Amino acid sequence: MNLRLTKAAELSVFLNMKLTLQIQLFPDSGDAGKLRETIKRFNEAANWLAPKAFERKLTNKIALQKLYYYDLRDRFDLSAQMACLCISKVVEAYKRDKEVQPSFRQQASIPYDQRLYSFKGIDRVSLLTLEGRVIIPMIMGKYQQELFGYAKGQADLVLRKDGKWFFLVSVDVPNRMPTPTTDFIGVDLGVVNLATTDDGQTFSGDSVESIRQKYHNLRKALQKKADAVKKVGKRPKSIKRKLRVVSRKESNYRRNANHIISKCIVEKAKDTGKGIALEKLKGIRKSQTRFRKPQRAKMSGWSFHQLRTFIEYKAKRAGVKVLPVKPAYTSRTCAECGHCNKANRPSQDIFYCKQCGHTDHADRNAARNIRARALCQQA
Ligand SMILES: [Zn+2]
Repeated sequence: MNLRLTKAAELSVFLNMKLTLQIQLFPDSGDAGKLRETIKRFNEAANWLAPKAFERKLTNKIALQKLYYYDLRDRFDLSAQMACLCISKVVEAYKRDKEVQPSFRQQASIPYDQRLYSFKGIDRVSLLTLEGRVIIPMIMGKYQQELFGYAKGQADLVLRKDGKWFFLVSVDVPNRMPTPTTDFIGVDLGVVNLATTDDGQTFSGDSVESIRQKYHNLRKALQKKADAVKKVGKRPKSIKRKLRVVSRKESNYRRNANHIISKCIVEKAKDTGKGIALEKLKGIRKSQTRFRKPQRAKMSGWSFHQLRTFIEYKAKRAGVKVLPVKPAYTSRTCAECGHCNKANRPSQDIFYCKQCGHTDHADRNAARNIRARALCQQA
């Protein structure tokens, strides 16, 4: 085999990143019925097959196919490709845990591959059902449209409990090679500002905080109602539903804000040819102890883990290096003279060095320390 080819192939595996796009579908009621029936039948077939694979201890797709393929097609009227996907689904579930016989919900999501679906432009997808193909309108966000071209073929059709339809598409996004960097943008993730860079750019938590508060109050009120209903011995079904909607809205809001912040930071790094330095994850949770109680609640209310993940993968895609640094004491060490003292931090947002008199916004001082550590580690 050609060695250069192999190397290139290895490299591309290393450089690719797998993501899942969640695209909402809008079938009319007729098509929704066909999709629902297909999902139901597929899961019935999987539930029929699962005990057979389990009893015979079969984890081999080909072996199962030999035994049950025609049965699956005859009994459940699945297309050839759907029967194969059904067998794979059962085998994969069984392999995950060989102690239990797999079972599938009647409305569990089902896999689609490229023989069963095709995109018709960016706003419609054709899906095979038991009654032939249907063409379903779909809506993609801008971000999804950007990545859509990398769709690989594997997808899942999902019917959510609230009746909404989604098509989850795996994409394989090529990463760029990280450009060699000599400098870093230090980024501090915090409470007053969700993110602060060492040059003082802040991504404020103010509006974010008021909206978080709004959702928090809404949830609390609903929870109270639910408890009251429970007390009189009824089931708070509709309140529970509302609670789920509120939680989902809140997490969508959070995700969107995290997308925007991470995009800004990564673009900035890319434009200036710098890498990004962040505190190691452990440090974020640990450093929560430096906040007083109400702030600690705020802190856990924000998904810093998600923000970090977004920064990391967007950076990867843009070829920007991300360097995690040691988190200890970045908030109480002076970025000018290096003096480390708890008293340097008289309040949540002010840094004032007891030794050299340097004053700064506390988050910016921390971001500068983070950058300095990255430069140290790099050297
Ligand atoms: Zn100082």
